[in-house]
Amino acid sequence: MSKLTSIEPFSTFVVGSLPRPQWVRDVIEERKAGTITYAQADADLDTAIPSAVRLQERAGIDYVSDGEWRRESYIKVFSEHVGGFSMDASPQILGSFLSDPAVSAPMSQHSDISTDAARFLKQNTENRTIVSLPSPYILGWRMWKEQISTGAYPTREEFIAACIPIIRDEIGKLASLGISHVQLDEPWLLMMADPAHRKRVGAGDLNEQIDLCIKSMNETVAGAGIPLSMHLCHGHFDRERATDTGYEPIIEALGDINVDRFAMEFAAPQSHGVQSLREFPKDKILGLGVIDHCDPRVETAEDVAVRAGAAMEYVDGDRITLNPDCGFSPGAQNPMDLDEAYAKLRALVGGAAIVSGGDGGI
Ligand SMILES: [Zn+2]
Repeated sequence: MSKLTSIEPFSTFVVGSLPRPQWVRDVIEERKAGTITYAQADADLDTAIPSAVRLQERAGIDYVSDGEWRRESYIKVFSEHVGGFSMDASPQILGSFLSDPAVSAPMSQHSDISTDAARFLKQNTENRTIVSLPSPYILGWRMWKEQISTGAYPTREEFIAACIPIIRDEIGKLASLGISHVQLDEPWLLMMADPAHRKRVGAGDLNEQIDLCIKSMNETVAGAGIPLSMHLCHGHFDRERATDTGYEPIIEALGDINVDRFAMEFAAPQSHGVQSLREFPKDKILGLGVIDHCDPRVETAEDVAVRAGAAMEYVDGDRITLNPDCGFSPGAQNPMDLDEAYAKLRALVGGAAIVSGGDGGI
């Protein structure tokens, strides 16, 4: 359990992404359109990302990311570095805003997914660092489409199996670089608990999905020499969450997943309260979501402390860390507000100081 104790109680984390300034969104769009090269885009992004890091440092966040400003989205970063995908070819599955690449040929990786960005992050902060990667399970649901993908991978399960070594190798590289913490983004486990979502995407039995998620996650993290989180949420875009369900159907299963910490949404009304934490596994750290990124009202430090106090009815404070419910902009074009994100992170840190016995700072 040494990895567990290396994470201080009430440490503050981001979930990953920060809103991008408009000019950064333009760089990503032009890179995607091919009007500028990756190298040209990186030169611009190298000037922007230190400010994303500094914003988090100024707010007082312990585990900082690069804001994921290089990524078009938290899952498309995979197909940006691994060949075999038809870009934006798949049908819409979560409303009009998502258009995912679909695997259409056997995958071939042409570059690391995150190591260059991680190295740059480390060079630009003295704080602890967190890097996120998409889980093979969510890649299976978002990037394997029956009408496009069966020639390359006959089943979703075979595609997931092929993604596992790619993500596992990437985790190993991030550990070697000295990144402090890796997070696997896995919103779809919770989203599957919503029957309306399962119906929408054609998933049948929830228990089958839980088993597939656990199996693929444990194979992905096997042998990882670095503290690991898994992130669960309801999905969101433009301040709307995609699903509506509490954690009861899946929370016991978290005990079977071999990560140290779970970063979970709890400020969201869609989480239906913290009572489900009664079943939160006793040997895991909770990443308690205390900031609702979908609510434009900026929380106070006291709001954050009250939310943390409610969770402490069910989980000991020495196993609680604090984070926003989700990344502020998992997709680059998500129209969120950077100044608002900063103010919310300040409140998060202020709340952490209150519950850990400090003076609050704000
Ligand atoms: Zn999320």
